[in-house]
Amino acid sequence: MQTTRRLTQETLIAQIDALLPQTQCRQCGYDGCKPYATAIANSEADINQCPPGGDAGIHALAALLQRPYQPLNLAHGVTKPKAVAVIDEATCIGCTLCISACPVDAILGAAKFMHTVISQECTGCELCLPPCPVDCISMHTVTGRELAMNTEEATLARRRHEQRNQRQALEKHHKAQTYHKPATAHTDHAAAETTNTNAEALKKAAIAAAMARVKAQKAG
Ligand code: SF4
Ligand code: SF4
Ligand code: SF4
Repeated sequence: MQTTRRLTQETLIAQIDALLPQTQCRQCGYDGCKPYATAIANSEADINQCPPGGDAGIHALAALLQRPYQPLNLAHGVTKPKAVAVIDEATCIGCTLCISACPVDAILGAAKFMHTVISQECTGCELCLPPCPVDCISMHTVTGRELAMNTEEATLARRRHEQRNQRQALEKHHKAQTYHKPATAHTDHAAAETTNTNAEALKKAAIAAAMARVKAQKAG
């Protein structure tokens, strides 16, 4: 009975999440689209807190949940057209702070090297702007686009955000094992090594994939 209820709730969260734009911008007051979907499903949040989703998004949520339509709560921001971040590579000092802030791993670079944004993967969330110490990131509006995301972009952004969350969880787990719980037995060492290898492999795969995407972007 409890399993059925949990499944129903998970289904509802997934249905709500499917209607959210996936910029992962946190303007709704939650740590991304899925947490906001969860809060709506739990009746802890209103349906009008997502500026990137716009009026159409609120209507879609109202229809799904059979709740009355409410205009966008402007305390959360205003709906803007699609925009992507562009880094002034001549000014960038390679501090990597923007990489840490990007919720969908759309920024490529390494410490002390200039950074660049993979524009097809940028959701326009603007989360990389505040951390940049030299203000060398600017948002460029994409002409002919009223909303931040279309369906294909939302699907890609959801996947990339989930992958990033998984990688960060793995890295956190590894750090916790390394610094707070020193391995004493052989098995602990082996487990720590495996986690380390997995985290490194994921990181390397993410960098290789990003470089391939940039290459493809430049070729296209
Ligand atoms: S797009 Fe931004 S405001 Fe809308 S649900 Fe996702 S994180 Fe929240
Ligand atoms: S590059 Fe900046 S604006 Fe684009 S998705 Fe990443 S953090 Fe958001
Ligand atoms: S935060 Fe700014 S200076 Fe630092 S790497 Fe990113 S773009 Fe370059």
